[in-house]
Amino acid sequence: MSEEAMPDWLRQARALIGKRYGRVRAWDPVNQPMARQWSELMGVQNPVYSQPDLAQARFGRPVVPPAMLQVWCMEGPVLNHYAPGSTDENPYEVLKMMEAQGYGSVVAVNSELTFDRYLSPGEQVYYVTDLQDIGPEKTTALGVGFFVTLIMTYSVETVVGAPDESRDERVGQLLFRVFKFKPASPPPKASDASGAGVQLPKVPAPGISDDTRFFWDGAAQGRLLVQRCKQCNTLRHPPGPACPECHSLEWDSLQASGRGTLYSYVVMHYPEVPPFAYPNPIGLIELEEGTRLIAGLKGFDPQKHPIGTPVQVQFETVETTQGPMVFPYFSPTSAAGA
Ligand code: ZN
Repeated sequence: MSEEAMPDWLRQARALIGKRYGRVRAWDPVNQPMARQWSELMGVQNPVYSQPDLAQARFGRPVVPPAMLQVWCMEGPVLNHYAPGSTDENPYEVLKMMEAQGYGSVVAVNSELTFDRYLSPGEQVYYVTDLQDIGPEKTTALGVGFFVTLIMTYSVETVVGAPDESRDERVGQLLFRVFKFKPASPPPKASDASGAGVQLPKVPAPGISDDTRFFWDGAAQGRLLVQRCKQCNTLRHPPGPACPECHSLEWDSLQASGRGTLYSYVVMHYPEVPPFAYPNPIGLIELEEGTRLIAGLKGFDPQKHPIGTPVQVQFETVETTQGPMVFPYFSPTSAAGA
């Protein structure tokens, strides 16, 4: 879009690039109880966070998990309820401007944390937000919109409650990028397309490497193959070059029975990205051989088929961007729905 063609609202939004939004303070200083509960929930078992003597020996001070950086300044369950001393500016004001222009939908596309150092109990954290960039208008499968990049810079107050920013210490950053867009009109349904001459996009072909080729070659022959370590016989999926147990690079494959159980699943409803049919259920299948794999589900009804439902592989030829390929899918076995 040329400078002249740029609408006023976008010119005003772009004028905000580089703006810094004031601080959001943490409700509580960094503390062990929150660190312990967060670690339990996230499955973090590193003893350096639970045994103060280990942290003392390594860092000379107790430390908390760096990935908690965002947690300390969160608002809690009440929307926009920030700790005293926090700004009341809205760092997302450009998103509001875009909404007013009909770019009503949003997806987060990047979230990148950078850590400068470990935090310790007692430290008072705050962050400021910089509007770093608004990209040019882009058309994607989701719709037309803008990539907006915000940078949250986290610091520790040198003097708690009497902040002197020049002496405060930066401890990390969060790059947060969203796509703010006008949703594309729903793609034509496969059923509408038949005979109507509508050309649907093809399913993206999977990336195939030397480590994964056997799997797709097997599927093409109607065989579900699982990688097996030649050294210790451990099965693994997804395929990779080395055994996670013994690090051996020697492997062959085992033909699985194709029987398993539904370990978990998601059902994709929105956004409807062509050419997939929606709702689109995706299963995490526990094979009876012991490995798990992710595959599309066919004939699946979440009301009738709970977690643990027996499933069976079936193979289907799919028109992909690289030509026809055979994909494994899983269906509840006939006993399951009864
Ligand atoms: Zn092994």
